[in-house]
Amino acid sequence: RAKQQGKGCYVVFDATMRTDALRRLQLQTDLRWAIEKNQFQLHYQPIINLENGEISGFEALLRWQHPQEGFISPAEFIPVAEEAGLIVDIGEWVLRQACRQLREWKQKFNCHPQLRMSVNLSGQQFTSDLSQKIDRILTETEVMGSELKLEITETAIMSDPQLAIATLNELKHREIKLCIDDFGTGYCSLGYLHQFPVDVLKIDRSFVSQMFLDENKRELVKVIVALAHSLGMDAIAEGIESQEQLYQLKSLECQYGQGYYFSKPLNPQEAERLLNKSSMAEKFHRQDSSVLL
Ligand code: C2E
Ligand code: MG
Ligand code: MG
Ligand code: MG
Repeated sequence: RAKQQGKGCYVVFDATMRTDALRRLQLQTDLRWAIEKNQFQLHYQPIINLENGEISGFEALLRWQHPQEGFISPAEFIPVAEEAGLIVDIGEWVLRQACRQLREWKQKFNCHPQLRMSVNLSGQQFTSDLSQKIDRILTETEVMGSELKLEITETAIMSDPQLAIATLNELKHREIKLCIDDFGTGYCSLGYLHQFPVDVLKIDRSFVSQMFLDENKRELVKVIVALAHSLGMDAIAEGIESQEQLYQLKSLECQYGQGYYFSKPLNPQEAERLLNKSSMAEKFHRQDSSVLL
């Protein structure tokens, strides 16, 4: 290969690249069986109302326990699943599992009536039958459309804006809440933004984490919050890790936030413990409901 490209030109296709390619191939193969073999689990990260410290919902985040390699990050295996065309089935599993979990929690903790579940969608899940699929899952799990929030990225929407608008409108008719994830990192034209029936802009972690170090990032966060408000949307900040970040976001009137400062993504048992604790706080010591802040 390298020879064909002429003298003095070296193609660096070395051992690392080969192992990378082989690894992806192996992961693709293993991903095909992951659902049947029960290797997936959802973890849940609380989304906090920054005005009163209450848990407004959870974001479901997929975890894969590989039998040989142990835990593999979604940042690595989601792109592989997309490449292999497996993300549609996996995404359906995630939706069903997240809705089941929400139903269970609503029954157990009836003191959290506003609790919502956020689920990440890949662009490939935007097919013409998406809303019918979701209808089936909602009926089966007895979850209302208004209790579900879907997170989509700008990139997923912008690859076919007309299809996206049509699909998003169908979801909107079911009162499903829609959120643009990692907002500010993609290329969402402002001309389109107001045409999307979106309820929430989620400010990317890269802006939030640098708010204190970088004046420009702070300005960007400010602008995104203002943009959300002027379009009648809410803003969520992701990746809040410090009290300073929290205070600054509150002063910018960003309504919701999530991040390690409040909680890492939790397994179902840990999430239940958190729900239990905060429901207790609400019941017995009203002012303590801000215990998370
Ligand atoms: P995302 O949707 O933007 O999710 C936020 C990611 O940031 C999560 O990583 C979360 O654990 C992490 N995070 C939250 N708070 C903090 C913080 O304070 N500091 C830091 N350093 N990180 C924080 P995770 O779980 O590894 O997921 C990575 C990405 O994988 C997600 O980004 C999402 O794009 C994708 N993903 C995860 N689950 C699913 C799924 O079920 N379906 C699809 N299509 N994608 C998923
Ligand atoms: Mg997300
Ligand atoms: Mg995000
Ligand atoms: Mg992100």
